Amino acid sequence: MNGETMMKKLRRRLRQNGQRQIKATQERPEPIRKSPREIQLMREAGRIVARVHQAFRETIRPGISTWDLDQLAVEIIHSHNATSSFRGYRGFPANICTSINEELVHGIPNRARVLQDGDIISIDVGVFYRGFVGDSGWTYPVGAIDPVAERLLQVTAESLYAGIEATRSGNRVLDISAAVQSHVDPSGFHIVREYTGHGVGRAMHEAPQVLNYVSSDMDGKIELYPGLVVAIEPMVQTGTWRTKILKDKWTVSSQDHSLSAHFEHTVAVTNKGPEILTRL
Ligand code: MG
Ligand code: MG
Repeated sequence: MNGETMMKKLRRRLRQNGQRQIKATQERPEPIRKSPREIQLMREAGRIVARVHQAFRETIRPGISTWDLDQLAVEIIHSHNATSSFRGYRGFPANICTSINEELVHGIPNRARVLQDGDIISIDVGVFYRGFVGDSGWTYPVGAIDPVAERLLQVTAESLYAGIEATRSGNRVLDISAAVQSHVDPSGFHIVREYTGHGVGRAMHEAPQVLNYVSSDMDGKIELYPGLVVAIEPMVQTGTWRTKILKDKWTVSSQDHSLSAHFEHTVAVTNKGPEILTRL
């Protein structure tokens, strides 16, 4: 699940509250530093998320429904005494997000939605474990995919690792954004602008907002320091950066139905460099 851009968040708040104005300063909480003990708990939360992705890698093939994947995920999550952090979030009705082909994020698992040879599927997994969140997404090929889809997956995954490489003490949030963008731009693909990475900890979305492109956004200036944990999540599409929300009010799709990909890891800033928490 992704952070919204600040403007989008403000617009939503304005709609919800019926207020005319909210000062931007009220919407800019400080990042929350995690202690070594808290990072250890987040490592354990992250490992559970990684186990779910491991199971997906072994299971995804034509003929499986997104509902089957949801059930597989919740079985693993519950067997580790964790819960899905997505279920119930603003009313989200499932345990994971499954988004196929032109769908980017926030797709709802469904028994009738069966994977076909040549599809790509983006799956976002979030858990709560002993009070902390792990958050990681991956786009998987289903059977044999065409070369453009292959390249989209490769470029987006590589841009995630470029962002992670920049997640170092003394760098700024903007350095992560720049690393992602400078990897994607030469490909000719398009970085989605309306959804972002985010700080993560006891809450699914904390400060700072982590954009996937360079802008004058205030959070970009925040300096990274040990104990900061961020979810970095490039979202890239082949035809346009624009997205739309489908009739189910959840699924985000590319506006032109071109292919979409999403890769995400939860990453801690440490004295020794970036540490990916959502891995085995
Ligand atoms: Mg996520
Ligand atoms: Mg996220």
